[in-house]
Amino acid sequence: MSILGKIFGSRGKSTQAADEPTSSGGSNAWSILVIGGGIGGLTAGIALRRKGFDVEIIERDPEWSVYGVGIIQQNNVVRAVAELGVIDDYVDAGFGFDHVKIFLPNGTEVAHIPTPALTERYPACVGIGRPALQCVLGDRAKASGAKIRLGRTAETINDTGDRVDVTFSDGTRGSYDLVIGADGLYSQTRDMLFPDAPKPEFTGQSVWRYNFKRPDDVQGLWVYNGTPGVGLVPMTDDLMYMYVTTAEPGNPRIPTENLASEMRKRMTTPSPMIQALVEKVTDNDGVVYRPLEWLMLEGPWHKGRVALLGDAVHATTPHLGQGAGLAIEDSLVIADELSKAATPEEAFQKYRDRRFERCDYIVKNSLAICKGQLGEGPLIDNSKASAEAIGVVSQPI
Ligand SMILES: Cc1cc2nc3c(=O)[nH]c(=O)nc-3n(C[C@H](O)[C@H](O)[C@H](O)COP(=O)(O)OP(=O)(O)OC[C@H]3O[C@@H](n4cnc5c(N)ncnc54)[C@H](O)[C@@H]3O)c2cc1C
Repeated sequence: MSILGKIFGSRGKSTQAADEPTSSGGSNAWSILVIGGGIGGLTAGIALRRKGFDVEIIERDPEWSVYGVGIIQQNNVVRAVAELGVIDDYVDAGFGFDHVKIFLPNGTEVAHIPTPALTERYPACVGIGRPALQCVLGDRAKASGAKIRLGRTAETINDTGDRVDVTFSDGTRGSYDLVIGADGLYSQTRDMLFPDAPKPEFTGQSVWRYNFKRPDDVQGLWVYNGTPGVGLVPMTDDLMYMYVTTAEPGNPRIPTENLASEMRKRMTTPSPMIQALVEKVTDNDGVVYRPLEWLMLEGPWHKGRVALLGDAVHATTPHLGQGAGLAIEDSLVIADELSKAATPEEAFQKYRDRRFERCDYIVKNSLAICKGQLGEGPLIDNSKASAEAIGVVSQPI
């Protein structure tokens, strides 16, 4: 779905007073190019503008399209969004909740786990449609004064020591103090910076997702144990999405015209709730199928005046529901460090120092859950692992 019109059409929307950029501290006269207009790039743009930096964001996709299912945002992410100053628009666009229910495959409820809120007066967690999230972030990035240029990539990035000269795919050029690559799992910026860095790795598992009308009683995240792994996530008063994780050895390509029937075949969880949804999976275009890949950059996350954030450096499988949250937290930390440090080098190093352990924990523990489900490692108790992870990410960033 293209959200271009929506983002640019709704710029007059309210901006909370607290969301205006704050005064610049130390060396905030730097101009910064952000490569990638996804969750990480837009939140970086917003966080940097709030510190007073001059920001330009380039996005490869001229339509700025985002697929139409949703995303789970845990309590640390709600806290991060509050710190970004976007919380009211974000909560309004999603569905707040405060618990996870765990079910046996037959539908028997075995646990109701409350999730503590980390942000006063706001829900603990949020389920939100990806297009809705992109709209909230795109609107705010624009309103904050970040320049957004669509349909363009960086062809060359030349760090001269005191500037970074960039040539773009449309033949134009720019010169910036700093560049931040937030261009996702297959980051071109990472390839330019670190050609020998490890490549994304397929786990052996994939995820099928589909939107449904939300039944009244689905008021939180519902997780069905067993194989396949199934979950229901509320996104709005009217909508929820389902995810189904399955082993897909060899990473097969599924033709679009077969997506609905292939998803139905895999929805074998016997719970009456899930079985009632099987026959509703009819629209091939509504099925979002994704092979699950991961990547953790163990080495540096920057070189000179160019740094990376989000999936470009730490792409996690969604088993702990944290990938986008980590990207948002990265944005806050990199903006904070840039606003305090005397040199970009110092800021980028401190940013990685603050982020590495948490990101590594999420990537490795999510992967362990995945491998356990595939029978390639010990089976991990998902609810215990999630509770432990919440303890970790609840710590200040
Ligand atoms: C199946 C699945 C389910 C997930 N569920 C959750 C969840 O429930 N909760 C959660 O927190 N996370 C979840 N995630 C993870 C989350 O989607 C990612 O961690 C998050 O999107 C990372 O943001 P990013 O900005 O780093 O990368 P992306 O979202 O990939 O954004 C990168 C952007 O850069 C653009 N781009 C790419 N290359 C270039 C280039 N060369 N030049 C310019 N622009 C470029 C892309 O078009 C894109 O807009 C899930 C991931 C998957 C695969």
